[in-house]
Amino acid sequence: MTNRAYNFNAGPAALPLEVLQQAQEEFIDYAGAGMSIMEMSHRSSVFEGVNDGAQSLLRELYGIPSHYKILFLQGGASTQFAMIPMNLLTAGKTAAFVHTGSWADKAIKEAKLFGDTAIAATSEADRFNRIPQLSEIRVPDNAAYLHITSNETIEGTQYAAYPATGDVTLIGDLSSDILSRPVDVSQFGMIYAGAQKNLGPSGVTIVIVREDLVESSPKTLPTMLRYDTHVKNNSLYNTPPSFSVYLVGLMLKWVQAKGGVAAMEQLNRDKTKLIYDAIDQSGGFYRGFADLGSRSLMNITFRLGTEELEKQFVKESEQQGFVGLKGHRSVGGLRASTYNAVPLESCKALAEFMADFRKRNE
Ligand SMILES: *Cc1c(COP(=O)(O)O)cnc(C)c1O
Repeated sequence: MTNRAYNFNAGPAALPLEVLQQAQEEFIDYAGAGMSIMEMSHRSSVFEGVNDGAQSLLRELYGIPSHYKILFLQGGASTQFAMIPMNLLTAGKTAAFVHTGSWADKAIKEAKLFGDTAIAATSEADRFNRIPQLSEIRVPDNAAYLHITSNETIEGTQYAAYPATGDVTLIGDLSSDILSRPVDVSQFGMIYAGAQKNLGPSGVTIVIVREDLVESSPKTLPTMLRYDTHVKNNSLYNTPPSFSVYLVGLMLKWVQAKGGVAAMEQLNRDKTKLIYDAIDQSGGFYRGFADLGSRSLMNITFRLGTEELEKQFVKESEQQGFVGLKGHRSVGGLRASTYNAVPLESCKALAEFMADFRKRNE
């Protein structure tokens, strides 16, 4: 019945076929309620079960300690770029950032609207082809927090290890690598992620935040932009994106059935090795963009000798059922996004296509 593309989209991105099929089965009548999830009250016990179930499974799979709250918000990770300084950047303090590329840049620009910012380290001189060494990071004494972008989706770079910030709160944008590998959540004061790359569809943003950080937001903040509003109301202060939350729950069950987050990491390593090997063993025909030590398990960025050849690569790949391999317009080249739900078979097919394309165009 299925004619599924080899989907390497950067976001929204591939979802597991099993998840889509279960959603299809339950689409018209969820659990005998006589209606779909979309038609039911978010105050109903059925939806509360969906909401709580997704939260507790995320807590279990990601090892989230009990003094952290899990929120399902709207507005995307982009709204978090502003909400974080609005809530946490207090007078006399500085928001510190590791500047790693396109998404870090957006987070910095938003924080500047609300207070002082500092660049604790940057790889701009290297066109953001690497994550700065942890030893390069200088956090100012008056830092309210240090913000990092765990995986730069556009450049294709990812932290191999996170900085130890001591007393300074570490905040991580994990939009493009949440749940792709085990993380020690207690290293962070807060983790946030738009769901549409690794965790489900667009429309819901996951925030994992240590309880003490939500206690002293400025009194003047709008209700919807305060973390404490959503903590007090279990993410049900206003109408939530209920269908998106439901799909995140299905996605979490799928991760669990696959063996959990450590199994996801192994699968992601196996998947990306196929494609990185195709690059590294091409005798320079394909050139990886990221430094070896900063290579991403989620977004593989590479170039060909000429832009013309890159265009031809995209065109021929599309003819053979591949989708989403054109690089982001800001950096050019090619990009394969290999999030959790992208099957090994898609990566095998891509590696084979790459070898074949090289033979024909070397
Ligand atoms: C996609 C992405 C965002 C933006 O997410 P939205 O949900 O579209 O606002 C932010 N940060 C990173 C690292 C991303 O990959």
